[in-house]
Amino acid sequence: MMQPTPLDAWIAEQTHGGGPLDPEKLREYQLHTLNETLAWAMENSPYHRGRLGRLPKSGLSDLGELADLPIMDESILRTRPEYVLCISQGDVARVVTLRTTGSTGEPKRLYFTAEDIAHTVDFFAVGMTQQIRSGDTAMVFMPGATPHSVGDLLRESLTRLQAECISYGFMDDPARVAEKILLHEARVLIGLPGQLLTLARAQAEALRGNISSVLLSGEHAPQWLARDIASRLDCEVFIHYGLTETGLGGGVECCAHHGMHLREADLLVEIVDPGSKQPLPAGEQGEIVLTTLRRRGMPLIRYATGDKGMLLDRDCPCGSRVARLLPLGERRGDTVPVQDSHFSLNHVDEAVFRVDRISACNAELRYGASPSEAATLRLSLATKSAGNEATHQLAAEVREAMAASPVLGPLIHSHALDVDIAWTTGAECLAAGPKRSLVIQNNQESL
Ligand SMILES: [Zn+2]
Repeated sequence: MMQPTPLDAWIAEQTHGGGPLDPEKLREYQLHTLNETLAWAMENSPYHRGRLGRLPKSGLSDLGELADLPIMDESILRTRPEYVLCISQGDVARVVTLRTTGSTGEPKRLYFTAEDIAHTVDFFAVGMTQQIRSGDTAMVFMPGATPHSVGDLLRESLTRLQAECISYGFMDDPARVAEKILLHEARVLIGLPGQLLTLARAQAEALRGNISSVLLSGEHAPQWLARDIASRLDCEVFIHYGLTETGLGGGVECCAHHGMHLREADLLVEIVDPGSKQPLPAGEQGEIVLTTLRRRGMPLIRYATGDKGMLLDRDCPCGSRVARLLPLGERRGDTVPVQDSHFSLNHVDEAVFRVDRISACNAELRYGASPSEAATLRLSLATKSAGNEATHQLAAEVREAMAASPVLGPLIHSHALDVDIAWTTGAECLAAGPKRSLVIQNNQESL
């Protein structure tokens, strides 16, 4: 029998005083806190006042009316974040500056109060009870030195569960990481999906049987990647969805591993049609739009994330009634055009990691000197298989997997995309940086 997510009891307690979670009462709570948020934002933020000005004094009478409010574009967080801020600078506990890969111009800025951050720690602590027991040791592969960073908040929540939390920082060398895990007898690992995949593939023999569970966070984690880690390390793998905009924590998988249960006391999630911005029903794919419910520092109201996803129905196989979000890993602006097609690093990973013995992959795309010339995808791959003959064979397998990809295959067959393979080590791949992206070298612009 499956255990329902611990979020049910927690959300029920916060929204209607406990008992089994009642979706009707949850909606009442959400409408009430949404109206409080709208009033707070109108009173304290010139930006929200300007765009919500026509709102009735009594607020909304139904959650469905949220769809009538305008969409909040991320550009305001770059150009005038202080217009969205609802508190004095003295009450700001943390400012997060987000610089997305490859983007030029101003970074996004988000501000949080101590109370905003405390809600996130609560969520982490409740979510982690699925994975950790008192006395266990967890190792976190994210920086934890900065106060209120993800690593720091995780440490706080795990300490509350009487677990030990070791912050390693981002992974460097898979062999050294495995050694530390075994030395500290850490049975729970928390980190970026790509880094944990590299660890699981490079150090499966050393770690198998010593890990009870893994939490993937910080970047999109596709289902195939989670399954791959689970089978190599023989452990349970949970995926977490969270953005700085969701307050770092957003939603986490339950033991059914189909969709992430959302922290519904703090977040309202809509899936909207990317064009009309009108909400779509559960089961349909669209853009993830967020509204924060108890956030005081910088409330977000119908904030368009640029992430693609879908809501699943409330009846989860685990028995929970908490809403489930399935992020689809496509983000506005993360695909690159080659001739009349587009692809992303996810498509490259999906093909490359079909080859069992590949443990790490970095990719760089170089466009031809003219638009008609083929673009080159340069892959830096790591494997434990040694010797020229072994890597020669592996390169052939990678090329075969790329050619079989429904997205990359047609580009390769039509000679619009060449694939170039170089061999490196797992440590060198990880040294290229924790946040993975498809590096673009544009010959046409580098004149
Ligand atoms: Zn569930």
